[in-house]
Amino acid sequence: MNKILITTEKEIPVIKYTGCANCNLPCGKREKNVPKRGCCWYDVELDLYDIKNIIDRDKSIFIDIISKHPYIIDADLNVIYFSANKINNNENRENKVCIFFEKDKGCSLPVYARPFICRVTLCPHLRKYIDTKEYIKIKQVNNLIYRHRIKYLDLLNRELYERGIEMNKIDLIIEILESLPKLKPLEIQNAEVYVKSNCLI
Ligand code: SF4
Ligand code: SF4
Repeated sequence: MNKILITTEKEIPVIKYTGCANCNLPCGKREKNVPKRGCCWYDVELDLYDIKNIIDRDKSIFIDIISKHPYIIDADLNVIYFSANKINNNENRENKVCIFFEKDKGCSLPVYARPFICRVTLCPHLRKYIDTKEYIKIKQVNNLIYRHRIKYLDLLNRELYERGIEMNKIDLIIEILESLPKLKPLEIQNAEVYVKSNCLI
């Protein structure tokens, strides 16, 4: 039976659904030649919170990500964007695959190094297959996770602002983030939430 896991990887909170690999839901709709990739079709972004979490665990992973994948820096929002690959010239999402998605394998990034939204967001379609009490439990953990992110994102953005450092000086950003104390992990209790029926069929 498929379930939703509330867990951590290397002290990073993760909420994941075990049925994603067989996704047939509207979010996962795709064109004929696009690999089965669930909702991994969008342009993803890493903000300072994501980057700091990766660097705190393994700086080489972040260096690997930016050396192997094309990216765009938004110096106003302090964010790095990775555009999804398109299989043909159509601009619609059915035609897109996230740049980190590997055919028949799924996401190539370690779970803790994935963008925030990929670590904690469940598709809204699952809501109707979960008991309300259980759903509230997930939302409560989710709120804690979001608050943790906002707190540290604000702190990290201020660090850059006070030093007058622009996000496009990426080597310097890595150096600064590495020199700052590690982010205090959020402690959450592991839990499993059962999904009433196989909603993916
Ligand atoms: S989160 Fe939902 S839409 Fe995305 S792959 Fe999983 S089941 Fe499919
Ligand atoms: S980063 Fe990984 S989990 Fe997130 S959309 Fe891309 S392939 Fe999917």
